[in-house]
Amino acid sequence: MGKLPFVNDLGFFEIRLEAIGGLGANLAGKMLAEAGVNGAGLNGVSFSSYGSEKKGSPVKAHIRFCDLTTQIRDTSPVERPHVVGVFHEALAKTVNVTSGVGLGSTVLVNSAKSPGELKTLLNMQGGKIAVINATAIALKEKNRVNMAMLGALFRLCPFLDPQTLKDVITKSLGKKYPQAVESAHRTFDRGYEEVTFEEFAFEEGTSVPDFKRSDVSVLGYETQPIGGMIVNPGGNFLKDLSISRSGMIPKYDHESCINCAECDTVCPDMCFVWEEKVDKKGRSQMFLKGIDYQYCKGCLKCVEACPTSSLSSGREKEGYADSHTVKHQFNLAVPI
Ligand code: SF4
Ligand code: SF4
Repeated sequence: MGKLPFVNDLGFFEIRLEAIGGLGANLAGKMLAEAGVNGAGLNGVSFSSYGSEKKGSPVKAHIRFCDLTTQIRDTSPVERPHVVGVFHEALAKTVNVTSGVGLGSTVLVNSAKSPGELKTLLNMQGGKIAVINATAIALKEKNRVNMAMLGALFRLCPFLDPQTLKDVITKSLGKKYPQAVESAHRTFDRGYEEVTFEEFAFEEGTSVPDFKRSDVSVLGYETQPIGGMIVNPGGNFLKDLSISRSGMIPKYDHESCINCAECDTVCPDMCFVWEEKVDKKGRSQMFLKGIDYQYCKGCLKCVEACPTSSLSSGREKEGYADSHTVKHQFNLAVPI
């Protein structure tokens, strides 16, 4: 087994990163693999799988390590990870982030919640849960979530040397973004130091669920109708885009709004909810009612566009979006 704490039947220690486009999981995976190969004397590989590759789509990065006498001839996705790194806790709403975790696996989540709260959120019966508030650290240090997650991941993988990763950061960012190296190191160090863990015993009669491959379509080359079909219709009307937000959210103050619709013009989605009312002169006019946060990606373009102080940006606190959302009234599509 060598330096690795445990390996699977093929001799691999496997890590899966669950993220959304833009949070830097792909780069984090590459840096992890490089640090394992150059610093820990392991064989290693990293690759990613994307959805539509646009910012905000779910993304997975896969990393495998083994000792130097084992060859890596496997670039299939990591299905039974020893460590899972979840870059955004809201991913659990739409992606089975704990798929394939087994006895001894660790699930690391970027969250402000406690391990106990996450156990309930992730519907886990037991096992080891690690938490790092990577978003808060990244915002404070003016750096990226992936650096704080990398720090926490290194703590969970004691066979990796943190100094090697800091050298990788210096090498990767030093030429193009030298001003970002110091804050990246600080963010990494804070991730390493501030990650917390808790191990939950399985209650009597419960255990790790048997592995079942998820996301398997019933439609294949034999069963797909000629011409294909849309399996997830409805576009953004049915989507919850809250997983695309990375810590910041627009806040709306009704009082100072002049209903100019500049915000709606720049918003890439259908966040702004309007209602028709009569103005002071008795004319019919559209008034801004609020924001439907289901569709908000947190890009903050609306805040930049607003000519008054009606829209401001702030850290997204737990429950803010749910308690302040103003739902659209349309009923154009029915969930299947
Ligand atoms: S931050 Fe503003 S512009 Fe961006 S998606 Fe949300 S409401 Fe629309
Ligand atoms: S841009 Fe500002 S003032 Fe204009 S409608 Fe939007 S929130 Fe109101």
